[in-house]
Amino acid sequence: MRLSKEAGADLVEIRVDLLSENERAQWKTLVESKLLPAIVTNRAPWEGGFATSDEQSRLAVLSSAILLGAEYVDVELAAVHDFKTHLQSQNISLSSKLIVSHHNFEGPLSLQEIRQVYDKMVSSGADICKIAMTATSARESGVVFQAFRDLTAKPLILLAMGELGQCTRILARKFGSFLTFCSVNDDNGSAPGQIATDKLVNLYRFRSVSPSTKVYGVIGDPISHSMSPAVFNACFKKAGLDAIYVPLRVTDEVAMFIKSMIPFDFAGFSVTIPGKVAALEAMDFVEMTTSKIGAMNTVVVKPDGALWGFNTDWVAAISAIEEALALEKRSLRGARVLCLGAGGAARGLVFGALERGARHVVIANRTLSKAQRLADEVGACASAVSYEALLTCLDSDRPERSDAVSSSLADKTADDAMKSGFDPNSFDVVMNTTSIGMHPRSNETPLQVEALVRFGRPLVFDAVYNPLETRLLSEAREVGCTCVSGLEMFVRQAAEQFKLWFPELQPDIPLMRDVVLARLGRN
Ligand code: NAP
Repeated sequence: MRLSKEAGADLVEIRVDLLSENERAQWKTLVESKLLPAIVTNRAPWEGGFATSDEQSRLAVLSSAILLGAEYVDVELAAVHDFKTHLQSQNISLSSKLIVSHHNFEGPLSLQEIRQVYDKMVSSGADICKIAMTATSARESGVVFQAFRDLTAKPLILLAMGELGQCTRILARKFGSFLTFCSVNDDNGSAPGQIATDKLVNLYRFRSVSPSTKVYGVIGDPISHSMSPAVFNACFKKAGLDAIYVPLRVTDEVAMFIKSMIPFDFAGFSVTIPGKVAALEAMDFVEMTTSKIGAMNTVVVKPDGALWGFNTDWVAAISAIEEALALEKRSLRGARVLCLGAGGAARGLVFGALERGARHVVIANRTLSKAQRLADEVGACASAVSYEALLTCLDSDRPERSDAVSSSLADKTADDAMKSGFDPNSFDVVMNTTSIGMHPRSNETPLQVEALVRFGRPLVFDAVYNPLETRLLSEAREVGCTCVSGLEMFVRQAAEQFKLWFPELQPDIPLMRDVVLARLGRN
């Protein structure tokens, strides 16, 4: 209870059924201590709880909580009649507030089902109605938000359990929930999707959220590792904005999810893997280069609800590369570029480099067909080569390739690479967009340092930002290449998003960088 108070909780739920035999003797002392107002709950096994006693003894725990002066007792809807009968038989008056609860662990409830349960709770004499359901899709958060708007007869706690419904916990104040449940720390939640109290209070600024607060969020799967909530909430706080930024794990139909959230004051989204292509479907307008790239990472919700899609990844990476080149009086105009990888990040970088005047981009990818597809889309200024061919070609001078068969195979692969427009002797810029070298496999590198020397010490950009200094960058730096880290891309794409959402404000780039560095343990 002390830890909860220190973390910022206003009241504490004592789950008697979750206490061990030894701890169980102490719950009454906790209620009496009045350190925080208490909800006493002794959840029945048939409602997902762990109370082992018979039903009368279970309910007797709650009646003794009333006698001890607990501010709230939580009784299941299915047990509320028996509980009232029990109180009458004991001549105990219900002086605590009555939370009547219903849990659906199997899945979500429809709006109509929620309304039916709520009406029964109100008729049963509930002071506060609590309904918890398990989310099976992120879209079910919309059902929760709508129910808050519709059901106003009695205070309501309504939440979608699990990571898919986590935003219903974070946004509880916006939609008028009586309270939200959180855990004392990251490891000890009593239900799926709970957030640690200090995170809710400090990272999500729970107390400053109100019905007028605009909502922004990052859509992805997985999403729990994303640094964007920490970055944007810090920026919103510093700028004094009435806005909150939440993680949104979306496992299905990204376009439908985006559309379903618009009625609930969502004003913008970041989109990350794997939804960057699927999100395009929901857009009413897509900016031209974003459309060419075929992947987006930013949604701006216009005041009339129209959805505008942008890709800020490419501007972020390319502007960082251009600035570094400019310091050496060089530019991307006319540059020969090698792009390692042909995934989502590569698409933006390849289109972006050509947009800025690069002469030719060679795309080297493990799966040649993906590189080929991207090169075909781009046109004559790009060619594709398999990653294997690239390495073989670079390796072709090595004396250890003595085996005749593998040597001739390697020669053929090297020839194929050359035909693809790959000149192993000269590149101005090398961009790594593969995940090679990313934590925890940070001892790996997508390209040996000898290749960089052979290319003529090009500028090296690495999209990977964890670790900040990848093996590729540290080796490139050692041989005199100019280096640009993925951190620059991450910070700049976030800054560009901020500008799109708040055109009248300037993004606080140093703050964004500090938050990321702190999260990566380097401040
Ligand atoms: P993606 O679409 O999944 O593409 C991954 C690329 O890496 C593919 O070309 C894949 O080749 C290649 N690859 C993966 N493992 C490989 C291996 N062991 N050997 C050779 N090639 C391998 O991912 P993405 O969105 O482009 O992201 C790629 C990297 O960029 C990630 O590390 C991500 O964190 C980083 N990124 C950084 C930022 C930033 O702001 N700094 C933004 C976006 C992405 P195949 O096609 O053969 O699978």
